[in-house]
Amino acid sequence: MGSRASRIAHVVLLSLGICLTLGSVARADLRVVTTTTDLADLARAVGGEHVEVESICKGEQDPHYVQARPSYMVKLSRADLLISVGLDLEVAWLPSLVRGARNPAINPGKPGHLEASRAIKPIEVVGGAVDRSKGDIHPRGNPHYWLDPHNGKAIARLIAARMKQLDPEHGADYEANLERFIGQLDAAIARWQRRMAPLRGKRVVSYHATFNYFIQRFGLQQSGYVESKPGIPPAPAHLAQLIVQMRKERVGTILHEAYHDRGASNLVAKRSGAAVLELPTSVGGARGVSSYIALIDHLVARTARALGGR
Ligand SMILES: [Zn+2]
Repeated sequence: MGSRASRIAHVVLLSLGICLTLGSVARADLRVVTTTTDLADLARAVGGEHVEVESICKGEQDPHYVQARPSYMVKLSRADLLISVGLDLEVAWLPSLVRGARNPAINPGKPGHLEASRAIKPIEVVGGAVDRSKGDIHPRGNPHYWLDPHNGKAIARLIAARMKQLDPEHGADYEANLERFIGQLDAAIARWQRRMAPLRGKRVVSYHATFNYFIQRFGLQQSGYVESKPGIPPAPAHLAQLIVQMRKERVGTILHEAYHDRGASNLVAKRSGAAVLELPTSVGGARGVSSYIALIDHLVARTARALGGR
């Protein structure tokens, strides 16, 4: 009897423990949903203990094309803050998820809806009307801006300001977390600049226009793309021309996003004498890339090695 009673007591205590754990998760001051893992990491760095953060995209997924699952709608229906990359990166899938979530707090124009692109100055803005059906999937400028670590700082600042607005009670904590993160990022940026400095002016080709902000920040030169146009798969005539150009300019490296098929990049590499460097584009996109700073660390280390640096 005694042991049965103690077993029951144990079960009761265990369930109580589970309830308390669930309770504390549900009591996060801000429930944040981000479209990408990079934004999720920045939101966690700034939000600390006051936020619960989930990303819709996984680190190894192509953020232009995500299958809208009902489970994402459920996440969004409970969110206090939705943070997206913006500049039309998620235009093919996010608007329908937001509509389906029926959560007025995260509708466009509300404080609970934050496009992180507001923090940065976009490059490659295409003026005038653009026909997306022809594959120009970046009409409002290149949306892959998070790969410039200075933009990472600007995004973190924007997120902190919005968290303060939505949860003023913990404003001082968001501020302190932001300052700590900026300090870590600044130290890392100094390290990255030193490592990349000897490689200024080196030419690279990329599959898609994903690495342009990274390339620009560290003084590399973009010679061309394997894709015919952003979002348009490579055509044979385009590849033939690219191979000639790469030989002429002695381009030795093709930066290739891990989520794209390698066929065309491999072909161009083989015919031009270059090597394909497959890279993650987001947190979680490769082993060990578990934070925003780890992502840029990884990109700097691998690019520097491929281009003949230390
Ligand atoms: Zn893109």
